Amino acid sequence: MAILKDFQYHAPESVDEALDLLRRSGKPVLLAGGTFVLNTLKKAVAYPTDVIALRKIKALQGIADTGEGISIGAMTLLSDIASSPLIRERASVLARAAACVATTPLRHMGTIGGNVASRFFWVDLPAALVAVGAKVEWAAGSGKKVLDIEKFLALKGPDAKGILVRFLIAEKHPVGEYFRHTQAMEVDLPLAALAFAARKQADGLKDVRLVVNTALSPVVRLKSVESLFENTKTSRLKEKEAAAALRRDLEGGKLDDYRLQCLCGDMEALVERLKRAKT
Ligand SMILES: Cc1cc2nc3c(=O)[nH]c(=O)nc-3n(C[C@H](O)[C@H](O)[C@H](O)COP(=O)(O)OP(=O)(O)OC[C@H]3O[C@@H](n4cnc5c(N)ncnc54)[C@H](O)[C@@H]3O)c2cc1C
Repeated sequence: MAILKDFQYHAPESVDEALDLLRRSGKPVLLAGGTFVLNTLKKAVAYPTDVIALRKIKALQGIADTGEGISIGAMTLLSDIASSPLIRERASVLARAAACVATTPLRHMGTIGGNVASRFFWVDLPAALVAVGAKVEWAAGSGKKVLDIEKFLALKGPDAKGILVRFLIAEKHPVGEYFRHTQAMEVDLPLAALAFAARKQADGLKDVRLVVNTALSPVVRLKSVESLFENTKTSRLKEKEAAAALRRDLEGGKLDDYRLQCLCGDMEALVERLKRAKT
């Protein structure tokens, strides 16, 4: 049985204090809800010298209406995102994606910051955050920055080291859907997922965003499908046409047949749902 080795535990109360600890520690690891970190600590190849817990930092907590949009602290629990009336109303795809993660106990421990900062391709929330055009407030040695989520997800190496402070969602995307396929009943991690967000007006859908997560590479926006849907009344959308546009968007990615079939089925189901929806 693997044994937990010694490390220094820190619980800073501000982002600056946490950044300072990150700078001064030999091999630090940030700890949010710990659902991933605690699972891997015993097996870590590069064992951490310092564990920096983020739970006491107020700036990383809470869901708020800022007047310009929604702010979601990085330490917000997945269960709070899934049940938040504000997020359900303005960014429903994000609430749906959070509700899909793992199991109820895990959603009561895991945070949105840990989900995104883990940078695993297979996690659920990045596709939904790209679908609502979220921005990320990021604190690093070079100072605080606000980045588009797509730019944040592309950061690599030393640029990817820092503290995720909060997510900002400026636009309202009340229409949202999240489809997800798992590998097997007993392995609930997503194998493929499709996130959709938009506004619906009398003359058609607006600000349409469709994002695919294949769990194999970074999330991909479906630009052909987006332009097919934009400004189109839902009654005019066609299931097969939308699925063909999805195939075009994903063709370069050499996706396996199984995932492609799943996602084409999702696309058809999405069009069907949009046509049936009254509002
Ligand atoms: C059994 C099981 C099932 C799971 N199923 C799913 C699933 O279905 N879908 C899914 O998406 N995920 C799943 N996960 C993965 C994980 O639980 C979630 O992604 C969760 O949201 C991680 O959040 P956390 O707060 O627990 O992160 P932690 O474990 O605390 O941290 C994860 C990583 O992010 C870093 N980090 C955390 N917060 C910050 C921050 N603010 N700034 C910078 N870095 C930070 C940590 O250093 C660490 O590297 C599963 C995990 C387990 C154990």
